[in-house]
Amino acid sequence: MAGKIKEIQAADYKDEVLNKERVVVDFYSTECPPCEALATKYEALSELYGNHISFVKIFRQGNKELAQELDVTGSPTVLFYEKGELVGDRLSGGIKRSALMENLDSLLNEQEVKEVKAEITPIETKSDVIVLGGGPAGLTAGIYLAQAHAKVILVDPALPGGYVATTHQVSNYPGFVDPQPGFMLSHFMSEQAKANGVEYRVAVDVSDIDLEKKQVVIDGVETIKAKHIVIATGSRPRPLGLPGENEYRGNGISYCATCDAKYFDDKEVIVIGGGNSAIEESLFITRFAKKVTIVHQFAELQANMAAQQEAFDNPKIEILFEHEPREFKKHGTMDMGVVVEDLKTGELKELKSAGIFVFVGFLPNIDSFSEELTLDQWGYLDADESMKMNLDGVYAVGDVRSKAYRQITTAVADGTIAAITISKQL
Ligand SMILES: Cc1cc2nc3c(=O)[nH]c(=O)nc-3n(C[C@H](O)[C@H](O)[C@H](O)COP(=O)(O)OP(=O)(O)OC[C@H]3O[C@@H](n4cnc5c(N)ncnc54)[C@H](O)[C@@H]3O)c2cc1C
Repeated sequence: MAGKIKEIQAADYKDEVLNKERVVVDFYSTECPPCEALATKYEALSELYGNHISFVKIFRQGNKELAQELDVTGSPTVLFYEKGELVGDRLSGGIKRSALMENLDSLLNEQEVKEVKAEITPIETKSDVIVLGGGPAGLTAGIYLAQAHAKVILVDPALPGGYVATTHQVSNYPGFVDPQPGFMLSHFMSEQAKANGVEYRVAVDVSDIDLEKKQVVIDGVETIKAKHIVIATGSRPRPLGLPGENEYRGNGISYCATCDAKYFDDKEVIVIGGGNSAIEESLFITRFAKKVTIVHQFAELQANMAAQQEAFDNPKIEILFEHEPREFKKHGTMDMGVVVEDLKTGELKELKSAGIFVFVGFLPNIDSFSEELTLDQWGYLDADESMKMNLDGVYAVGDVRSKAYRQITTAVADGTIAAITISKQL
């Protein structure tokens, strides 16, 4: 095992953890992508902090009883100990270097922290292409580029997979007869990229992105320099910011009719919104649902007139004007509620339905770029047919790009086009 790390078994736990001054323990598993993402950071930090803190690894599947005793239910889980007592945060999932360092620092005194920080040496890595974002668009670009023998580094503040990893089921991606759990589809894509040689820097803090210089700084220590940068950072649903929204997201609340409307055959659903996408998606949902109640804050819809007329003519659609959602509730499977306020009277009431769709817009993930990038009227990156942006060597692919339809198939198509365009220049 590289770094100053000791692999131990449950039998050694008392001596190596409880009886030691300061210890950090990583419960890991095999075939666990987040564990792999953590391994390199853990090793590097063991070199840095190893003179002050004992770094321990425990194989979770081989030490199940100990893991259960410590309530360690997922891998990786990192625990911090001082004089045998659990201290600090219990870290799990996509663990960032910054979160580890924060907890390690809190085990040290001020002088020790200074000593450790003085030892940090910046790293510079050269690559042909940096791909920003590990969703379907970025992974596909990575696969094609790596197969063209380009050195590709994929950077993502989260674990690879993008939206697909959090999508319950994907039934419209070609190649699979049965619907695929989103996390499996994204796992296949990510493993394929890795097998082809794409290097990952995932679950990292993206400290700085300089598109002009084609360089990205991660975790404040590694500067990656490249000839090309592919922006595949996707978009995110504009949140309403209401109680229950985060909790039931993907579990009663959906942001994608193409993906989820089919689960509401002959059911009643509620749609929040009143613009083009809300009305067009509501019309689409009526192919499945028996009733769609649109909750809209204004007295008139904001969608184009043709879509409005279609909605008014559709007997399955009912529109509740001048009402605003205040809270989401879940009473059981396919039993959702939304508390709405009548903006004229201030009266609150709960509307019930099998599911809720929120269409109040998406936001492109472009906040990390300070350069002048050409945007469309909705703020998405305006790339040309080859996915090239207005800055030399910069490409935009997937949901972050200006386009009519945002799906996995269109994201992978963009990634393909950018990669082939780039590989012809390498
Ligand atoms: C709830 C939901 C369900 C869906 N279901 C389906 C479906 O069934 N079928 C279908 O075809 N489509 C579906 N879609 C649409 C589909 O998921 C997207 O079109 C697709 O994921 C877009 O891929 P992408 O790679 O462009 O972006 P994303 O999948 O959004 O990936 C972007 C990645 O970039 C990373 N990132 C963000 N900021 C930065 C940064 N500054 N630096 C580096 N990385 C960054 C993110 O962490 C993320 O991993 C669904 C969408 C939603 C919201």
